[in-house]
Amino acid sequence: MNKVPPEVMKRAKKLREELNYHSYRYYVLNDPIITDQEYDEMLKELMMLERKYPELITPDSPTQRVGEKPAEGFKEVRHFTRLYSLDNTYSEEEVLEFHNRVKRLLGVDSLEYVCELKIDGLSIALRYESGTLVLAATRGDGVVGEDVTANVRTIKSIPLKLRKPLDIEIRGEVFLPKSEFKAINEERIEEGLPLFANPRNAAAGTLRQLDPHEVARRNLDAFFYQIVDPRRYNLETQWEVLSFMQEIGLKTEPHAKRVKDTSGIIDYWKHWQEEKHSLNYAVDGTVIKVNLIHQQEELGYTAKSPRWAIAFKFPAEQIRTKLIQVSFQVGRTGVITPVAELEPVSLSGTVVKRATLHNFDYIREKDIRVGDQVILEKAGEIIPQIIKTLPELRTGVEKVIKPPERCPVCQGTVGKEKEGEVALRCLNPACPAKLERRLRLFVSRDAMDIRGLGEKLVKRLLTANLVKNFSDLYKLTPFELAQLGTGIGDKTIANLLKEIDKSKDKPLHKLLVGLGIPGVGKKLALDLAMHFENLENLEKAEIEDLLKIQGVGIELAESIYNFFHNKEILEELNELKKFVNTKEPRKKIKGILEGKKIVVTGVLKNYTRKEIHDLIIALGGSVTTSVSSRTDLVIVGENPGSKLEKAKKSGVKTVTEDEFLDMIEGEDSNDLSR
Ligand code: AMP
Ligand code: ZN
Repeated sequence: MNKVPPEVMKRAKKLREELNYHSYRYYVLNDPIITDQEYDEMLKELMMLERKYPELITPDSPTQRVGEKPAEGFKEVRHFTRLYSLDNTYSEEEVLEFHNRVKRLLGVDSLEYVCELKIDGLSIALRYESGTLVLAATRGDGVVGEDVTANVRTIKSIPLKLRKPLDIEIRGEVFLPKSEFKAINEERIEEGLPLFANPRNAAAGTLRQLDPHEVARRNLDAFFYQIVDPRRYNLETQWEVLSFMQEIGLKTEPHAKRVKDTSGIIDYWKHWQEEKHSLNYAVDGTVIKVNLIHQQEELGYTAKSPRWAIAFKFPAEQIRTKLIQVSFQVGRTGVITPVAELEPVSLSGTVVKRATLHNFDYIREKDIRVGDQVILEKAGEIIPQIIKTLPELRTGVEKVIKPPERCPVCQGTVGKEKEGEVALRCLNPACPAKLERRLRLFVSRDAMDIRGLGEKLVKRLLTANLVKNFSDLYKLTPFELAQLGTGIGDKTIANLLKEIDKSKDKPLHKLLVGLGIPGVGKKLALDLAMHFENLENLEKAEIEDLLKIQGVGIELAESIYNFFHNKEILEELNELKKFVNTKEPRKKIKGILEGKKIVVTGVLKNYTRKEIHDLIIALGGSVTTSVSSRTDLVIVGENPGSKLEKAKKSGVKTVTEDEFLDMIEGEDSNDLSR
């Protein structure tokens, strides 16, 4: 074993402290003072040190968020004190009754409350010993829950170490941000899995995943709202509890408010009923809590819930409309999704004309028929869904919805791919609908970015049978394109061919996005490309190699492996290789940007902002947001902003994106384009 030199020990400790401090600024105070890039840089440095000297690894190191799968599932844990649920109400009168009851029980005639938002997630109890996270448990039945520590450690906003060395038990809510909820459901449609009905189910489903890698991919988040035995920490009010939690490093929901008596409660509730759409997490109401802890203690608990708090919920936003027709959408992997075409109605801020019906089991369970009056609601305030029909309003002309016997697009046979799958798929591998979705992904901005090849043109290419696979795009001739007919003149053709030609030079990660590998999005595509450097290496990768990538668990590793071991896919890839670049222009010259401060301005062709930042950092440089005399280089994309002028004025060197790529690329890595 290498002996750890004292200066390395010191450095690692410093990095750990810095990283913990900056993630506290970022997640808890919502006030970061360094860029994500600077953070990543420190994290990378710590990872390198720990790789070299594994003795340096501590359980609270920010590098230790994703660990191994617990061998035998989740253990049961007994909570120190019970986790109660809350009494619910939707009405102002009942809130008034609550207020009067509390006043009477305490013998006071005025009260201070804390109003909080009620997060739609699932409750979680954390235990810290000497400030280190030792246990995270679900509520379970309130007395005994499940040990989900390994999964909760992956949640970046939950500190592995508090800012004070306390023994303490905390409660809060783990949730999925709305954006994440939407993305997961979209993925689940393609995978033929049943959709999560709401963010709470999605969060629960995610937290109960056995593989922490899969959990880490999901970007769960958390807010905390309770300390067990607050007086032990000299806290006299709920309001102090909230700020104390912030102080020790736990994130609290930022919109809590102190109010007196009931008018403030009702104003808060009304305000957030309107404003809740602006938040990136679902809230289903407010929670009203008596502020003074000694009053809480005096009031105590019923068998089920505290007498000092009440959930004042928002009415579900629902609306009635008519289901006019059902259409069928065929996805990239052939999943056939029934979609309700509705009489347009306005709901939670948007006009809704269509709603997913998920799958045919869902339609059957809810007995949804064409012509029905239906009740709509938005799941997670985002996805419009039919939650029920009103059969009592049927007139007799309504029609039962039958699964299609053939693919609505290609007339191919339909069926289930795997046992137990709810989704129906078109089983024809050459189905143009699948091909259309795949092509549209391939040419999209995050992928090969072939501008001018929009939905309509893709459809026409398919109808004319000119394109059967990605590689066919690169074989198109002006003559063939001219035959597409109206609206496609010489100029359009020339432009299109130019764009197609340009896409040949795209870096590998863009190609990977375009291939539509199940489970591989933008971020993972970049990680894969950076790690494997070229397509051949990725094709040859074994499951173990794939598992080395952060955020890749066994399921995902297998999915990627299977993709690259499918005969048809390999044939197509071999064809594609004749035309397009299959290398990642990155593992160029390591450290070439060492110590360089770089600013990026304008829109780049090959990289998003985040990608170029990651690239710069990977090569040793750092990214700053504004130009100063200390800036070493400004990379200039299309439509550059004032930073370009500033650079010229201060005499800072500027380069175009292409020049930059030339600069960082070594001799041995020239891709096809150069
Ligand atoms: P219910 O499950 O409807 O009985 O509501 C009680 C649950 O609301 C608690 O177990 C928590 O998981 C959740 N909750 C969400 N936000 C809060 C909050 N600010 N204070 C207390 N409980 C909350
Ligand atoms: Zn089909």
